[in-house]
Amino acid sequence: MAVRFVIIGGGPAGTQAATYAARLGADVTLVERDVIGGSANLWDCIPSKAMIATGAVMSLTRRSEGMGLTELEAKLDFEALRERIAAIEQGLCRNVTDLLVSQGVRVIRGTARLKGPHEVAAETDDGVIGLEADAVLLSTGSRPRVPDWADPDGERILVTRDAYPPKELPSHLVVIGSGVTGVEFVHMFRSFGSQVTLIVSRQQVLPQKDAEVAAALEDDFLRRDVRLFKGARAVGIDREGDEVVVRCDDGRSARGSHALLAIGSIPNSESLGLDAAGVEAHDGYVQINQHCQSNVAHIYAAGDLSGKLPLASVASMQGRKVAEHVMGLHTREHRHLDYEKAASAIFTEPEIADVGLAEAEAFAIGRKIRVTKVPFASNARALIDGDPRGFVKILSDPATGVVLGGSIVGRGAAELISVLAVAVTANLKVNDIVESLLVHPALAEALADAAE
Ligand SMILES: Cc1cc2nc3c(=O)[nH]c(=O)nc-3n(C[C@H](O)[C@H](O)[C@H](O)COP(=O)(O)OP(=O)(O)OC[C@H]3O[C@@H](n4cnc5c(N)ncnc54)[C@H](O)[C@@H]3O)c2cc1C
Repeated sequence: MAVRFVIIGGGPAGTQAATYAARLGADVTLVERDVIGGSANLWDCIPSKAMIATGAVMSLTRRSEGMGLTELEAKLDFEALRERIAAIEQGLCRNVTDLLVSQGVRVIRGTARLKGPHEVAAETDDGVIGLEADAVLLSTGSRPRVPDWADPDGERILVTRDAYPPKELPSHLVVIGSGVTGVEFVHMFRSFGSQVTLIVSRQQVLPQKDAEVAAALEDDFLRRDVRLFKGARAVGIDREGDEVVVRCDDGRSARGSHALLAIGSIPNSESLGLDAAGVEAHDGYVQINQHCQSNVAHIYAAGDLSGKLPLASVASMQGRKVAEHVMGLHTREHRHLDYEKAASAIFTEPEIADVGLAEAEAFAIGRKIRVTKVPFASNARALIDGDPRGFVKILSDPATGVVLGGSIVGRGAAELISVLAVAVTANLKVNDIVESLLVHPALAEALADAAE
C-alpha cells in the first residue's frame, strides 16, 4: 500500500512536499484552509514584490532625465494596482493547484488539526473529514506579530496584510521595525511618494546584516528623505483624528497619517492539536531535526512553523527534503539542508542580497578569510543602465580559494546572488567564477571582477 501522507497547510513547504511526494509514489492529501500557495502568495512575498515592482517603475521615470528622456511621469492608480496584484496571485494559485491535481494530490479545502499521532481531522463546509496518516507534515506558516501596545484597525494602524495596497496612499507612513520587512515597506511607500519615518530600535537598520550593507541602505534612505528614529523602541500608537502618533521609549514620538507594524511573525500552531499527538513545540514553533522530523518521528514540520529561516525558498526546500525522507530516499544520495547556505534578498533600492558566511561572523569565530570587493561604478552595464550604486563583496578561503559567502548591493542583486549561492553550495572556487565566460556588458561581470 502507498504511504498515506497528510499535509496541513498549502504554502511553499506544503505544496512542494505534496507534489514531490506524489511524484515519488505517495498517496498525498493536502488540507488548506485559505488559498493554495499559502501566505507567501497571498500576503507576503508576491504582493509585496508586486508593489515594489510598481514603485520601481515610478522611480525609473523619476530618473528618466539622466537617461536622455524628458517629461516622463507615472501616476499611481491604486485600483489598477490592486487588480494587478490579484491577477498575479490568482495566476500563481492556479498554476500550483493544477500541478497538485496533475500529480494526483487530493486537495481538501478546510481547517485541519491532529487528533492523534496517526489521525488528522479536516473541518470543511461539508462536515469533518477524518484522515488516517502514515506520515504528517505540519506546514501552517505564520502571521504578523501584533504587540500588546498596538491595536491595528486596518485603516490607519496597519499590519503588512492591510497594505496591499491600503485603502488610501499614506501621506506620511511611520514604519515600526527595521528588519527585512520593515525596510522593504519603507522603500515601497517612499517610491510611491509617501513621506516615511522608520523607527529603528537599534543603531543600525537591518541589525542582522553586514554593517557595510546596512550603511549602503541607510545612505539611500537618507538621500530619499526618509526620517530615521534610531535607538528608539515603539511603545504605543494613538489615533488623533486623521493622524497617528507613535510613541517611543526614549520620549520621542513620530506623527504620520498611517503606522505600519513590521515586527516579526508568530507561528500558526495554537489550534493544530500538537498535544493530541505528543508533538513538542517551543514558543509555538515545532522543534525539528535535520530531516524536519518532530520528536514524533513520522510527524514533520517545515516552513515558518519550524522556526528556522522564515523564507519561502527555505520552506520549499524543507518540503522537498520531507518528501524524500517520507519516501525513504534519504538513505540514498541525499544532501541535508544547510540553512547557513541559504541565499536571501531584500527588495529595496538598491537591492541587497547575501549568502553564506558574513564578514562579521568570520571575525567573531576567528576564521581567516579573503575579502574582495568591487563597486558597480566600475561596471559598464550599471553605467549604461544609469544605476551604478552598490558593490559586490566575495568572501573566500585564503588557502583554497573556495567561495564561503558574499554580499551584493545594487540593481539585480537578488538575481546575481544565485551565482554565489551555487558557488557556496557546490564548494566552487573564486577561479571558477573568474574563468567563466560571461556576457558583456552585464552586471554579472562585477562578480568575476570581485572574485579576481
Ligand atoms: C511581508 C513579507 C514579505 C515576504 N517576502 C518574502 C520574499 O520575498 N521571499 C521569501 O523567500 N520569503 C518572503 N517572506 C517569508 C515567506 O512568506 C514565508 O517564509 C513563507 O510564506 C513560509 O511558507 P510556509 O509554507 O511555511 O507557510 P505559508 O506560506 O504561511 O502557508 C501556510 C498555509 O497554511 C494554511 N493553514 C494554516 N493553518 C491551517 C490549518 N489548521 N489547516 C489548514 N490550513 C492551514 C494557511 O492558510 C497558509 O495558506 C515574506 C514574509 C513577509 C511577512
